[in-house]
Amino acid sequence: NVRVRFCPSPTGNPHVGLVRTALFNWAFARHHGGTMVFRIEDTDAARDSEESYGQLLDSMRWLGLDWDEGPEVGGPHAPYRQSQRTEIYRDVAQRLLDAGHAYHCYCSTEELDARREAARAAGRPSGYDGHCRDLTDEQIAAYVAEGRPSIVRFRMPDEPITFTDLVRGELTFTPENVPDYGIVRANGAPLYTLVNPVDDALMEITHVLRGEDLLSSTPRQVALYRALIELGVAKEIPAFGHLPYVMGEGNKKLSKRDPEASLNLYRERGFLPEGLLNYLSLLGWSFSADQDVFSVAELVEKFDIADVNANPARFDLKKAEAINADHIRRLGVEAFTDACAPWLRAPYANWAPERFDTAAWEAIAPHAQTRLTVLSDITANVDFLFLDEPVLDEASWAKAMKPGADALLVTAREKLAAADWSGADPLKEAVLAAGEAHGLKLGKAQAPVRVAVTGRTVGLPLFESLEILGREKTLARIDAALA
Ligand code: GLU
Repeated sequence: NVRVRFCPSPTGNPHVGLVRTALFNWAFARHHGGTMVFRIEDTDAARDSEESYGQLLDSMRWLGLDWDEGPEVGGPHAPYRQSQRTEIYRDVAQRLLDAGHAYHCYCSTEELDARREAARAAGRPSGYDGHCRDLTDEQIAAYVAEGRPSIVRFRMPDEPITFTDLVRGELTFTPENVPDYGIVRANGAPLYTLVNPVDDALMEITHVLRGEDLLSSTPRQVALYRALIELGVAKEIPAFGHLPYVMGEGNKKLSKRDPEASLNLYRERGFLPEGLLNYLSLLGWSFSADQDVFSVAELVEKFDIADVNANPARFDLKKAEAINADHIRRLGVEAFTDACAPWLRAPYANWAPERFDTAAWEAIAPHAQTRLTVLSDITANVDFLFLDEPVLDEASWAKAMKPGADALLVTAREKLAAADWSGADPLKEAVLAAGEAHGLKLGKAQAPVRVAVTGRTVGLPLFESLEILGREKTLARIDAALA
């Protein structure tokens, strides 16, 4: 039975890297009919926040990444917030100490720094040097009498640690690269290095899929796991798979502080959850050689950790938008309307709610659905229908209203007034004829009309827009532009 976990720390806003990790775990669990555990690693009181915790849950719900055990749903290993599991960690730390797998380390930060510097200068490995590994009872008594604080340090084995990474294959870490490490702070607070594997063990996690940045902690965790198995706390060492880095602009590692890494940005711009998930799944994985747009169901069916690539993935906003656009096209009419709803209301929409005209929306929606890349663009594309006057975009006005535009508009108004308004084609004919009268091609002739009526030089197909707005309003707007 596959059991995976997504275990973020509630600090800051959810970001792209975090969501990619959640997604791969989720897809893996769902593909195998396994269990997705959602655990909150909130052991760092100084950095964790309730706000961030709330955002994490909300983001997962929005994306549709559900979990079988964790906050709000509970489960056999509750609680799923590490801040509520302190007793468990204290107990395990004590058992590790009793069994000799861990020891008290009395070295002060200054002493550690000084010895690290000296080691570096001498070209020796600069990790912890094992100073307190084998203190005698007298030495310990002396340190305690001095009132020295101590941390708890895990004793790494003296031989290399080897494990088979699901993405990278067999990896070996030699002892000088993985020194003894702290698991409990001097104030008694357990550290990530302890609580993460202890919970993985107690929650019977079978596969740990996480970012490459955590690769260096894996040999430590494997060693700790062996000790936990000996103590009867763990049953088996889970399989580990490290997901490749995501590179952003300028081929630099995308950092969670980069603005383009923020999940909220994509949500506010109107990415569909399924569009974003589709794109994020391609960061280190591929669906097939000739298809990169697929549904969440298809992703689940196809997802295999063996197909994850170890090479860094590149975050490509243009591609993300193109994929999102495809997902917008795939929606049913109602789903499209529902998806647009947040942008058809305040604070995005600049018209009063009662000005929203359902019939006009239903007429314009199909034109929007085939053109939008992100849903937030809907507001500016349809506002001309719901406002008394169009929002005049200065740059558009300057561009379209060149000398001669007035004369064209006069003719266009005349022809439009005489046209048959039962469809878009006659309106196009009218503007085409007006252009011909002034020696202008359709493209040039329609620009002033578009700006007069919609306020902008770009938008949905013009003649359909005019038809939906109606004869009276269209002519009145051209009059206003001419006034
Ligand atoms: N809480 C850790 C983090 O957010 C989890 C790392 C892991 O998956 O082991 O980085």
